[in-house]
Amino acid sequence: MKTIDLRSDTVTRPSEAMRRAMMTAEVGDDVFGDDPTVKQLENYVAELFEKEASLFVPSGTMANQICLKANSERGWELLCERECHVVNYEVAGPVIHSGLLVNLLTTERGMISAVTIRNNIRIKTLHSPETRLVALENTHNRHGGTILPQAEILEVRKVCDEFGLILHLDGARIWNVHVATGLSLAELTRPFDSVSVCLSKGLGAPVGSMILGSAAFIEKCRRERKLFGGAMRQVGIIAAAGLYAVQNNIDRLAEDHRNARLLAEGLNTIPVFKVAMDRVETNIIIAHITVEDDSEKILAKMKESGVWAVSFGPKKIRFVTHLDVTGEDCLEALERMKRLFSDRL
Ligand SMILES: *Cc1c(COP(=O)(O)O)cnc(C)c1O
Repeated sequence: MKTIDLRSDTVTRPSEAMRRAMMTAEVGDDVFGDDPTVKQLENYVAELFEKEASLFVPSGTMANQICLKANSERGWELLCERECHVVNYEVAGPVIHSGLLVNLLTTERGMISAVTIRNNIRIKTLHSPETRLVALENTHNRHGGTILPQAEILEVRKVCDEFGLILHLDGARIWNVHVATGLSLAELTRPFDSVSVCLSKGLGAPVGSMILGSAAFIEKCRRERKLFGGAMRQVGIIAAAGLYAVQNNIDRLAEDHRNARLLAEGLNTIPVFKVAMDRVETNIIIAHITVEDDSEKILAKMKESGVWAVSFGPKKIRFVTHLDVTGEDCLEALERMKRLFSDRL
């Protein structure tokens, strides 16, 4: 039985064409600045986002943590959303690497409004920490791949300008926002001082993320990357996969979005699951469990019939569509789940 792996868009394997690009990549020692493929990738991505410069790093976690560190001083306060990746999946990075105090703000769909940010900026006194950083995440993973409203981001930018705050974007899945809204990557990221994007999610590269920002900021990040142990040698061999991914796999994300809706609609016909369709905006589906069993038990049953997803809490399961699952795979997964849970129909 074929496994249908819907755990994450990180599970994709490099295609033949991508492997060919890796095999034939020109390489050099990137710590000496000698790797032409890395340079090509960094220039290509910087131009695509209309930013001054970009930097190739091993992971999205490192990209975010380097950005926070290069943007801050110890003891500054960071405002971010309660469910954000930077706090929920990066161990305790902001405090360990950068000595940041974190204020987690609760939202409905992942967007921290300009008003909320304004209300959470501390007034400067002898006693208070300094609120100096804001991080947003687009699409928002734990809220179900939701898209942040661009008009509100512009309002947040205004508040940041008024109070001298630095604005960071965790844009691991910004590609999905671009494809779903039609807004350019440049427009989506223009309000931000620093941006991290993943090549290894929906775009299908095996490894790699990029940091984007001003030339001066990227030079600071290059030094931080060395400190984090993320400077690599003949790394063109993986940068080639990233370059292939950004040149070939952006527009096809629309297919992942169609498949996610197909899957979500199907899940809603199985009485074990309930998906809020207004949240299925991109390639992530969060299904609520409507029966007594908890998510681990449901997932164990699904696994026996070759359908893989992940727990997102005791009563929530996350499904993600990606490059290595087709519409037919999604229909097949639904058929198997219908059979599995038929005793409840
Ligand atoms: C995956 C992801 C990252 C980076 O994760 P890595 O596994 O370290 O590459 C950052 N932010 C979000 C929202 C993500 O989904």
